[in-house]
Amino acid sequence: MERDRMEYDVVVVGAGPSGLAAAIRLKQLAAEAGSEVSVCIIEKGSEVGAHILSGAVFEPRALNELLPDWRDRGAPLLTPATEDRFLLLTRRRAFALPPPPQMNNHGNYIISLANLCRWLAKEAEALGVEIYAGFAGAEVLYGEGGRVRGVATGAQGIGKDGQPTAQFQPGVELIAKETLFAEGCRGSLTKALEKRFDLRRDSGPQTYGIGIKELWEVEPAQHHPGRVIHTIGWPLDAATYGGSFLYHLENRQVAVGFVIGLDYDNPYLSPFEEFQRFKTHPAIRSTFVGGRRIAYGARAINEGGFQAIPRLSFPGGLVMGCAAGFLNVPKIKGSHTAMKSGMVAAETVFRRLAGDAAADYRDALAASWVWPELNAVRNIRPGFRWGLWAGLAYAALDTYILRGKAPWTLRHSADHLHLKKADAAKPIDYPKPDGVVTFDRLSSVFISNTNHEENQPAHLRLREPQRAIAVNYAFYDSPEQRYCPAGVYEIVKDGDGKTPRLQINAQNCVHCKTCDIKDPTQNIDWVVPEGGGGPNYPNM
Ligand SMILES: Cc1cc2nc3c(=O)[nH]c(=O)nc-3n(C[C@H](O)[C@H](O)[C@H](O)COP(=O)(O)OP(=O)(O)OC[C@H]3O[C@@H](n4cnc5c(N)ncnc54)[C@H](O)[C@@H]3O)c2cc1C
Ligand code: SF4
Repeated sequence: MERDRMEYDVVVVGAGPSGLAAAIRLKQLAAEAGSEVSVCIIEKGSEVGAHILSGAVFEPRALNELLPDWRDRGAPLLTPATEDRFLLLTRRRAFALPPPPQMNNHGNYIISLANLCRWLAKEAEALGVEIYAGFAGAEVLYGEGGRVRGVATGAQGIGKDGQPTAQFQPGVELIAKETLFAEGCRGSLTKALEKRFDLRRDSGPQTYGIGIKELWEVEPAQHHPGRVIHTIGWPLDAATYGGSFLYHLENRQVAVGFVIGLDYDNPYLSPFEEFQRFKTHPAIRSTFVGGRRIAYGARAINEGGFQAIPRLSFPGGLVMGCAAGFLNVPKIKGSHTAMKSGMVAAETVFRRLAGDAAADYRDALAASWVWPELNAVRNIRPGFRWGLWAGLAYAALDTYILRGKAPWTLRHSADHLHLKKADAAKPIDYPKPDGVVTFDRLSSVFISNTNHEENQPAHLRLREPQRAIAVNYAFYDSPEQRYCPAGVYEIVKDGDGKTPRLQINAQNCVHCKTCDIKDPTQNIDWVVPEGGGGPNYPNM
């Protein structure tokens, strides 16, 4: 069956803050110039916001530039950040540290980024942007001379056996003069583009963390709207990078999450269980007792910073937002830079469409506030490879004495290279969930409202299936059983109960992308499932 074809000036892949900001900016520029530009966005979630998971403390700098009257337009920025706390946890105690300047949130808002995206989508549609949710970009289309000429959405109704079912519908080809990739952290098409155009030839590897988050409705006495808390230390050991966030937003809600650098070395570490254990700390637990857990989810987060920014453009398109890696790690914020990069991308592409072949996205970004902001903090995250104490000391030196102007740049190495073999690592004994503040994986995935069509090929592909047992199980005790926050990977024993086999429960996948990043031999490829599949986050 032939694929349908639709043509636009610009196609955007992903309706996150970067994709939506780019689409809005393009329409604004066209209106200012009295011209027309046709823009389409595709989004793999069942609706805009369904796959958006963030903290989030939002810095409104880019939004102020994009839609200065956002207050009058009813943007969902309802809770100004009023109080910053930074705690160092030991097993039983919490020590207040002065919040570093990057964590000063005066002027910022505690929000649901998913709800902000839903609102931005309405603004975009009012300007004439076409948004198709439930359509995943599955394939980059190349034209003459290898130029990107658009994307194709995935077909619907292909069975587990790879054969069309009665529901089969071919994908759609979206042809564009310029295609903008805004897939967020570890985008699957972006990964293919990086390879095809060798986009990383002048940059370091991207590095990541896994962020696991819950949304709670807490007792009124425990609710302090505007309060922002970050913790470091327990339950992680000093060699493992990470920490927690607790953001008190409106409606008695508290967003709580834990981020762990994926350069951790112990294959027995379980980010999910570290997060659950964190909530049992005496300084933390009381916030949640008597409350109700509303939502759960997980998502990878970029940690590579300035030195991991790849080449950003290629013939026919460019990469923006967290797909390119513009997250400010010490701030734990990337939505403001994602939006700004989308706006700069729109300005560049608009000039190109008007015939200005010299318009250069990287140059334009380098002239914007994104570049100096990321450049100034580039050495802070890599300093933590020496451990928590040395990392903190270096961060203080870099921030207060060197003021981000160190004449050196510290390097990263890829996260999957950091895993120790199981026989060289110590197993970790995690406490059982108490059902009050801590829970197991499956009841957690249940409240992520994750749903995939069962009869479809697995969207988690093993390049060499036998490596799951011959390498991962044999040498690392199958770390995917523990780092996957959704219980997708399970070792089951067949036959006499002694023959291990990797079972992939793909229908549970919350699209965090951790397996694509952390698998020790890079044997797992995350590809898009049928459009609309995945989590259905309410207001994460
Ligand atoms: C736990 C955690 C806490 C965070 N806290 C904060 C914070 O407090 N403040 C802050 O500013 N930032 C925070 N961030 C970072 C912030 O969420 C990101 O920087 C921001 O979401 C990046 O925006 P984006 O548009 O680049 O990508 P995303 O927000 O990831 O959006 C990408 C969109 O593209 C869609 N998509 C992906 N691939 C395809 C495809 N092939 N086809 C169709 N659609 C596709 C996705 O479904 C998604 O909707 C946090 C991140 C995490 C994980
Ligand atoms: S299968 Fe991979 S992408 Fe899906 S939830 Fe598990 S680790 Fe994340």
